[in-house]
Amino acid sequence: MILLIIMGGVLASFLYALTQTDNISFLTRRSHCDSCRNELSISDLIPVISFLKNAGRCRHCQFKISNSYLFVEILTIVLFVLPVIVPLSYDNMLLYYLLVSIIIPLSIYDYDTMLIPSHMLILLFISGLFLTDLEYLEAGTDLFIVAVLHIFYLLFKEKIGYGDIQLFSVLTMITPLDFFIFTFLFTYIIGGFAVILLELFAHKNITKVPLVPFIAASLFTTFYLAF
Ligand SMILES: [Zn+2]
Repeated sequence: MILLIIMGGVLASFLYALTQTDNISFLTRRSHCDSCRNELSISDLIPVISFLKNAGRCRHCQFKISNSYLFVEILTIVLFVLPVIVPLSYDNMLLYYLLVSIIIPLSIYDYDTMLIPSHMLILLFISGLFLTDLEYLEAGTDLFIVAVLHIFYLLFKEKIGYGDIQLFSVLTMITPLDFFIFTFLFTYIIGGFAVILLELFAHKNITKVPLVPFIAASLFTTFYLAF
């Protein structure tokens, strides 16, 4: 359990930083503050604890660090530990941990910026195919679903981003067909309810929503409830 907490926290902060970067030099340089460029020491990089210890600011320049870091780390840790307490109904731990690790940072990033970085989709695609041993890759069915997703995109261009279509396309290739269909349907059920509630209570006219948080919510609904 302790190991899961540490792994979840470390992976979350690494992958969230990776989500935000747009060049590969990220992997070779040391972490530094975005504002004063001071290099961060190991004690600044402990997930959650460093953030709380420094009250969410850089130790050198007091620059306010985005709360999203804390949020990604806590959410990932909770989802890492959860299967120990509540068993998964779709019992595929490898796929579960892969999806938590990548989809959580992606959700928060999409929520903050309305963007889905391609390098994270490629990472999910390659590590997904590798970890599932190509088990769920069925050329005919997957090609059909990808085609349907693109037709869906052409019909609802105003409402849905192309990044979401790409993410669904990757998901269909690395998950079983029934799992994918549940996830896709739950996304629109959960998303639909959220939009209706927001329009009712916030009196906002919603034109575009970041979809990845809803895809994440429905992935975990599928893992815990659908099977
Ligand atoms: Zn700083």
